[in-house]
Amino acid sequence: MSKETLGFQTEVKQLLHLMIHALYSNKEIFLRELISNASDACDKLRFEALDNGALYEGDGELAIRLSFDKDARTITIADNGIGMRRDEVIANIGTIARSGTKEFFSQLTGDAAKDSHLIGQFGVGFYSAFIVADKVTLTTRRAGETQGTRWESQGDGEYTVEDVAKAGRGTEIVLHLKEGEDEFLNDWRLRSVITKYSDHINLPILMPKRPEYDDEGKEIPAEGSETVNQANALWTRNKADITDEQYQEFYKHVAHDFETPLAWSHARIEGRQEYTELLYVPRRAPFDLYDRDRRHGVKLYVKRVFILEDHEKLMPQYLRFVRGVIDSNDLPLNVSREILQASRDVETIKSGCVKKVLGLLEDLAENRKDDYATFWSEFGRVLKEGVGEDIANKERIAGLLRFASTHNDGDAQDVSLADYIGRMKEGQDKIYFITAETPAAARNSPHLEVFVKKGLEVLLLSDRVDEWLASSLTEFDGRKLQSVAKGELDLGQFADEAEKQHQEAAANEFKDVVDAIKGALGDQVKDVRVTTRLTDSPACLVVENFDMSGNLERLLKAAGQ
Ligand code: ADP
Ligand code: MG
Repeated sequence: MSKETLGFQTEVKQLLHLMIHALYSNKEIFLRELISNASDACDKLRFEALDNGALYEGDGELAIRLSFDKDARTITIADNGIGMRRDEVIANIGTIARSGTKEFFSQLTGDAAKDSHLIGQFGVGFYSAFIVADKVTLTTRRAGETQGTRWESQGDGEYTVEDVAKAGRGTEIVLHLKEGEDEFLNDWRLRSVITKYSDHINLPILMPKRPEYDDEGKEIPAEGSETVNQANALWTRNKADITDEQYQEFYKHVAHDFETPLAWSHARIEGRQEYTELLYVPRRAPFDLYDRDRRHGVKLYVKRVFILEDHEKLMPQYLRFVRGVIDSNDLPLNVSREILQASRDVETIKSGCVKKVLGLLEDLAENRKDDYATFWSEFGRVLKEGVGEDIANKERIAGLLRFASTHNDGDAQDVSLADYIGRMKEGQDKIYFITAETPAAARNSPHLEVFVKKGLEVLLLSDRVDEWLASSLTEFDGRKLQSVAKGELDLGQFADEAEKQHQEAAANEFKDVVDAIKGALGDQVKDVRVTTRLTDSPACLVVENFDMSGNLERLLKAAGQ
């Protein structure tokens, strides 16, 4: 096929524009992103070659090569990984084939300072090359194919693709540096960027050997290349030998995230299954957290060989924000998604990892309250799904929940069930809560009046998932949870005698009124009662204990059910 000129997708143009402006102060990350992609490409080749050794084309020494040319003012990053076909180049580079992208981009304001954090959430990836380059030439050949492809762009809205010959498989990227970016045409500078960001990469990153100097200071050019990084899988190292920065950089690579993680758990497990887990809790929810087609999840390795990335089978749905690596010593190398689904061994690994993550969150809640609050505001609503989803860990998950409460002002969700129990009044045996559509509706509900009057704390639930939560969480630490908007008002020992008598007297006195209201409302209500649950409001709606709450009914109606 001949050369063709194509336009970037609108979103790519926006991303490019923003990135160049917003990330300028941290421009060296382009190298991290390109090395990260090269490493992923080698992982993919290694995996495909498990079935088809011919893909190695006689060259099984996977590596990433980095070099620069001072005169041409170029930097070249080359890998001998999987490479791309022409159609793959067009699909992967020039388009952002991710669901939710349009909505994501509609949030951008055009103000670089405001939008830069959004970019982080999206991941910068390949396009970060244009932070330092005004022209990028990518030449690639997919393993096992004969035809190579060249892609070239000046980052200005268009790119070209053409067929070319390429001897070795894999991808080579040449960055033509912008005016003023000459600092990267420097051996020392490039090496230090690699050490800083890419030391953990699982395969050698090679650079030309440094020249030596003779007695008169004359340069003697060196032959060959040498490995610049540690080139072993980070998770196989001892915890004591890994710095926080290294953990953080590794996270950015596996999670395709731009930010540092909030917390991580790293452990080697021996038992029925032998595996290593290195799992992270991100700092910020990805834009596709609620998207069924989300791409990222946890990466499964078997004996250091990357097998697949999965967001369904290695972690339960309610922990779908977790990122990282599980490396098994026991699973077969040919493990597929289908096998994952049914495998008891995977189930064992999964449940072990879930416990690790819950432990990590408990530790965060206990010892780093501010970070836990960040976690909660980003992922609390997802974690709540776990109470119904994961029966085995229900009590632990419930312990991690945080709620708004009548005990505090404001909408912050920062009261745990344990906090609540610690404040329960003498003789109180239930945990009271209310569900409503909004925080304000919960706080101002007439159902609260009598509780407030008696000094009984009520948890205020107003997230969408709270109805489901309330239906699956009926008890915590031996205490029943009771909706204040359901059933007969039962205040137990907090009901006072005088009030009871007053209610009975009132019931008699207002019998005619009640009958009249019943007559007027007919089938629309089950019953009309005189109550002491109100202090200021004249009337409120109550549902029976086992009926749907008014709020759930509203939600279902809104969903068209
Ligand atoms: P991400 O790495 O998060 O997928 P990038 O923007 O970094 O996003 O890369 C986009 C896609 O381009 C990759 O998913 C991959 O399919 C392809 N790609 C990029 N670099 C390479 C490479 N060196 N070899 C093969 N494919 C690559
Ligand atoms: Mg990438």
